[in-house]
Amino acid sequence: TKWVYGFGDGKAEGTAGMRNLLGGKGANLAEMSNLGLPVPPGFTITTEVCTYYDQNGQTYPDGLQGEVDAALETIGRITGKRFGDTQNPLLVSVRSGARVSMPGMMDTVLNLGLNDATVPALAEASGDPRFAYDSYRRFIQMYSDVVMGLDHHAFEEILETFKGENGHSLDTDLSAEDWGQLITRYKALVEEELGRPFPQDPHEQLWGAISAVFASWESARAITYRRLHNIPNNWGTAVNVQAMVFGNMGSDSATGVAFTRNPSTGEKALYGEFLINAQGEDVVAGIRTPQDITEAARIAAGSDALSLERAMPEAFAQFTEICERLEAHYRDMQDLEFTIERGRLWMLQTRAGKRTAKAALKIAVDMADEGLLTQAEAVMRVDPAALDQLLHPMIDPKAARDILASGLPASPGAASGEIVFSSDDAEEAKAAGRAVILVRVETSPEDIHGMHAAEGILTTRGGMTSHAAVVARGMGKPCVSGAGMLRIDYRSGTVIAAGRKFSQGDVITIDGTTGQVLAGEVPMLQPEMSGEFGRLMEWADGARRMAVRTNAETPADARAARAFGAEGIGLCRTEHMFFDGDRILAVREMILSDSEEGRRAALARLLPMQRGDFSELFEIMQGLPVTIRLLDPPLHEFLPHGSEEIAEVAEAMGIDADLLRDRVASLNEFNPMLGHRGCRLLVSYPEIAEMQARAIFEGAVAAAKATGAPVTPEIMVPLVGMKAELDLVRARIDAMAEAVSRESGVTIEYQVGTMIELPRAALRAGQIAESAEFFSFGTNDLTQTTFGISRDDAASFLGAYQRLGLVERDPFVSLDQEGVGELVEIGAERGRVTRPNLKLGICGEHGGDPDSISFCERVGLDYVSCSPFRVPIARLAAAQAAL
Ligand code: PEP
Ligand code: MG
Repeated sequence: TKWVYGFGDGKAEGTAGMRNLLGGKGANLAEMSNLGLPVPPGFTITTEVCTYYDQNGQTYPDGLQGEVDAALETIGRITGKRFGDTQNPLLVSVRSGARVSMPGMMDTVLNLGLNDATVPALAEASGDPRFAYDSYRRFIQMYSDVVMGLDHHAFEEILETFKGENGHSLDTDLSAEDWGQLITRYKALVEEELGRPFPQDPHEQLWGAISAVFASWESARAITYRRLHNIPNNWGTAVNVQAMVFGNMGSDSATGVAFTRNPSTGEKALYGEFLINAQGEDVVAGIRTPQDITEAARIAAGSDALSLERAMPEAFAQFTEICERLEAHYRDMQDLEFTIERGRLWMLQTRAGKRTAKAALKIAVDMADEGLLTQAEAVMRVDPAALDQLLHPMIDPKAARDILASGLPASPGAASGEIVFSSDDAEEAKAAGRAVILVRVETSPEDIHGMHAAEGILTTRGGMTSHAAVVARGMGKPCVSGAGMLRIDYRSGTVIAAGRKFSQGDVITIDGTTGQVLAGEVPMLQPEMSGEFGRLMEWADGARRMAVRTNAETPADARAARAFGAEGIGLCRTEHMFFDGDRILAVREMILSDSEEGRRAALARLLPMQRGDFSELFEIMQGLPVTIRLLDPPLHEFLPHGSEEIAEVAEAMGIDADLLRDRVASLNEFNPMLGHRGCRLLVSYPEIAEMQARAIFEGAVAAAKATGAPVTPEIMVPLVGMKAELDLVRARIDAMAEAVSRESGVTIEYQVGTMIELPRAALRAGQIAESAEFFSFGTNDLTQTTFGISRDDAASFLGAYQRLGLVERDPFVSLDQEGVGELVEIGAERGRVTRPNLKLGICGEHGGDPDSISFCERVGLDYVSCSPFRVPIARLAAAQAAL
């Protein structure tokens, strides 16, 4: 086996394709060398050595030592220097480099090879003793810290004391002699603390640093990071050893970092910073203010510090050319590190640059236009989840954040407003033209009007599929849920956050993208849907197989979803239509009446309202499929709670408050999520199904007349576990279709299908499909019932599960493909055996999650359905899944 791969002098033993063996950094250094770019010569010790080291009690394979020595010789030949030589010493940097960049790993040791004997030679060769001794003391400090485990603060203390004693305030005030004295003190500290001297033998230094890199692969931080990011332990890290070049050798030396395009806007312009007479770490450390690389950037920033373009025009010209070459070669925006040593440019790193969503979009589309990428490649380049950033207002990244609490990032975007604690107050404030944040322990369907009125919603209880979260996402409003550290006191109208008390009317800001709750109003950036957005979406639509529908019940949501490109409604939750205005009265009457007759009378009042709702939805969707789900939640949700509210409602309804209280109590369930809801309600009260079916059919007839487009409603029965349940409800629907056809003289095309949201339904899908023309996987309830984890109570413990790595992602956000996913696969497969043309979709929150969408593509679903604001994300994710 070959353990060491050299590079430099216009050639290399590795290539960019050898990332697994050489790590990202090593593979790209090799590639740059092969391209003939100026790369300081060096070598990469492979990731296989790391694996060997871990598996063999921290020892090295035979032959490694010889290969390292030979590679050092080669560097010496290229540079004309020798490692450990007291005339012309070779100094090296040692860096880790895994396949993917990974925090927790040993980072960098610079100036390795310096010792008491080589430092005078460096002083002589550079003609700058101050530089040489400063480099040596930096090396002692860095090496002692990262290799020997001696905290760097101890060194900084010595430095500060020394400055105090000698009346210096800046590092630059220190002379070569000063640094020499400090070196003595530093070495004494090492010996005192560690009981052994600072290593003087350069080979011992080198192997110490190499071992530190390999050992850091097994550090606690690195292990945790790997577990959380699903990085296998056996990948290992490589070690890169490279000849030092110095950006701190005077005013003709410099070091910097650059992006080939602007990483925040995507603009095609070189973007970066550098420092004259500095070493790499100084640029990121923020001690000195870096200068702009291009003249254009300097002018735009209004800076009067010299740009690289002006300060070192030749090096700048060469660098610009290299940037263009690398970008064309990698066909992606690059993030580069470079050093200029006495006017000579050296490339130290290149890699694909991190970027904002906005930049990713622009860069992908521009590169396709430039012919650098195909349209399909451009579609693959943009992270669908990142599109969220573009669809909602966000907090200005430059703004200061006074963080009060954090909860779950339940619905993206940010909003500021006055605190209100009730939905009625929210509505009132909105009517008076004030912006509010609705702050609740949790929300229920009764809060819909308040949620509509509020700019954002904050709850202290509930997870990612809690009522507040689902409804807020549907409305496209920011929501932070489950912010458990907040204490709400409805009585006094206050909330305690981080020991501070806030009252109704005080302004707060919520950031639904991060889950943070902030004090006061915070500056925002408004979303911009650029032309690139539309173009990339068009390319994505051309590539995808699955349709994308939306979960919507209000006309506003349906229109918004259409504008985002939804191809129909996959889930209309009719219970959300039962709370508006005076409807709730009729609903309550229906629930309270103890006879079928009484219920029918109340339902008759609801019928025209529902008919109007549905015909409007059908008209907006213009012949696109619309799936309407019959009433789902437990009845007690519609009833008032608390004696005040009960008294109020009883009076309005002209009934006895005690009667109402009894009825509320009798409907109360220990476990409503598993109680009298979904089709169970329709089995007990089939007249509800009949009313809704009639409203749907009559609405369809009306809409078809109005638009001239045929309407084929899809009626969906919730929470079915057995075919017999579906049959019972279906019989009522079919009978109603016939009745409405007869009455209106119009034949109605329609389909009846079911949610698959219980494990039993998935298992018995073969039988259920005999009565269902379509299945829609309700993965919210299916996750809840498969895990046996309450979707409304998960927040209190799932966080710990995630921190401990028991689950990688919240299963209510990203489908548990192994467990819940297996049930989806079983359901799809068994359903299709019975009915080959069975239409299959998903309408749980997972329908808007890119990873889950990719799973749906694999299983062969026909469509995904998600909240309106996620429609663009789903379109892109579905395209990527198909490509
Ligand atoms: C589901 O359970 O996945 C679903 C879509 O229905 P709901 O969220 O309304 O229970
Ligand atoms: Mg459900």
